[in-house]
Amino acid sequence: NDLYRISQWGDGYYGISDAGLLTVYPKRENQSVRIPIGEVVEELREKNIQFPVVIRFLDVLCSRVQRLNRAFGDAIADQNYGGAYRGVYPIKVNQMREVVDEIVSAGEPYHYGLEAGSKPELMAVLSCDLSAEALTICNGYKDEEFLRLALLGRKFGRKVIVVVEKFSEIKPLLRLAREMDCKPMIGMRVKMRVKTGGRWSASSGERAKFGLSVSEMLQAIDLIRSEGFGDCIDLLHFHVGSQLSDLRYIQEAVEEAARIYARLIKRDVPLKYLDIGGGLAVDYDGSGTNASSSMNYSLEDYASTVVGIVKQVCELEHVEDPNLVSESGRAMVAHHSCVIMEVIGEISTQARLKETNIAADAHYLVRNMLDVYEDLDRDSNFAEAYGNAAKLLEDVLAAFKLGVVGLDQVADAETLYWKILKKVHSNLLQEDGPADLLSELGDLLSSQYLCNFSLFQSAADSWAIDQVLPIAPLARLGEEPTNDCTLVDITCDSDGKISNFIGDGGQATTLPLHTLGGSEPYYIGLFMTGAYQDVMGDMHNLFGRLSEAHVFCDEDDPTDFYIEEYIRGSSSAQVLQSMQYNPDSMAQFVKKKIDAEVKRGTIKARDGVGLVDFYEDCLRGDTYLKP
Ligand code: PLP
Repeated sequence: NDLYRISQWGDGYYGISDAGLLTVYPKRENQSVRIPIGEVVEELREKNIQFPVVIRFLDVLCSRVQRLNRAFGDAIADQNYGGAYRGVYPIKVNQMREVVDEIVSAGEPYHYGLEAGSKPELMAVLSCDLSAEALTICNGYKDEEFLRLALLGRKFGRKVIVVVEKFSEIKPLLRLAREMDCKPMIGMRVKMRVKTGGRWSASSGERAKFGLSVSEMLQAIDLIRSEGFGDCIDLLHFHVGSQLSDLRYIQEAVEEAARIYARLIKRDVPLKYLDIGGGLAVDYDGSGTNASSSMNYSLEDYASTVVGIVKQVCELEHVEDPNLVSESGRAMVAHHSCVIMEVIGEISTQARLKETNIAADAHYLVRNMLDVYEDLDRDSNFAEAYGNAAKLLEDVLAAFKLGVVGLDQVADAETLYWKILKKVHSNLLQEDGPADLLSELGDLLSSQYLCNFSLFQSAADSWAIDQVLPIAPLARLGEEPTNDCTLVDITCDSDGKISNFIGDGGQATTLPLHTLGGSEPYYIGLFMTGAYQDVMGDMHNLFGRLSEAHVFCDEDDPTDFYIEEYIRGSSSAQVLQSMQYNPDSMAQFVKKKIDAEVKRGTIKARDGVGLVDFYEDCLRGDTYLKP
């Protein structure tokens, strides 16, 4: 019973073991290699690593890179395609050094390259040891320094392609190439006419922020030729948005770009590469549909579709097949990491309900509420009872504001209200009542599980764009969960909550979880956080970076693993420093204040020392809660 759809979004990398444990299968094709996440958590606890923690399964990264390259390799061989695949990983999707290193090393046999969209990213990319054939692609707006850095890469033999996003980038690029005496490799990003759907559809169309219109592109070619660099135009690039959940959009975009490519070849532009940008989606909700959190195709379908369309257009146009480049980011890194956090409490509307003992002379509104409750067994119009209870509670609160009823009667009315809702809900469930009413009551009655994490730090897209991320407990997966919950984080912000989950027939507003209170801590995982989420977190409430564990499977023992590296999360002093505080001065100030109290005799000297030590320990210590 895969209530959390783990086997669907897990794409072969995540599943449930016979013991009901959430398990990672980092090698995918070899399911005997497996790591129960709970065992990693146990080891981290023994080492006193602060939770929440990001766990990276670096073998998953390696598998994703191999899978993409093999998918294109197979499609090229099967369809007798004339060009090669030279993909690049856009490091903006996750710039973490260990992530990029693993991708570079896994991609080496395939001449897999890297893409940079800013100066610091390009500096990072230039310091990676790529194979001689691999591409380095520079996207985004560029100043002279950015262009100079790209040409510096050319100076030491790297295939650095500067993709022209704006007409005005051309002259400085050519001037610097002359000045530095090197042959640039030039790409051109074309603004596509095709309209894609999804959250990132603004990346295409004439109002797109990046790229050249067809007429600008033709003028750009003339300019580059007139400056004597016509033989340097190597690549045509487009990008029509991320997470393209419908294969149809990809087909249309590739067809349009392939036509432009072919027509430019016919104008003697010596292009060698067609770069189809990013957009390869991942199936966050496991539904396999064209919903924005899903995708209606596989990675293999993507590769064979792209290869097939480009081949067909090139045949029709009688031009040679180009080398294909894709800039898939999300699909490379999303699966490899997850955030593990502990549920540290429950906030329930029905917790600590006061015992009611409604006196005969209680206010008539409260007595009416009692009647609604007592009549419920006989009365079968549950929707009406719910409406009456809501109205009566409102009236009691209005009467309280006017000083007509007291606090005890408000408490009685509240208790009766929740009892009525619970009874109505369970009766409606039994008689398969209207779905919208059931869902409304379910939301009202659901518990909020308090999780030791910051939504803004670890799942920015869930907050910002309502992205559904898979969430599941690490253990007890064989046990029926009995609590419908939403999740709230520990930031002091009401927005810090998750109420969109993978549901049975699409999205759900609550997540079924197990009751708390057992002897073991209850851990849940937020999965597929490796793309964008890992690196977009902010400093809201000064929680800072999470602890990290980098996990590899043991090559000699399929059921064992090792944690290659632990990275400590931010200390309070570190996050405060980033906001221009000086932790030493802060500690001195507190010490001065305590010393003054010691002198005045309000604090004993021994206690004063203890208080100062405690403050200093907190500065050195972790930012998240210690459950
Ligand atoms: N290339 C460019 C130019 C992009 O803007 C992006 C992201 O939107 C990507 C590649 C990566 O896209 P994705 O993560 O969808 O593969």
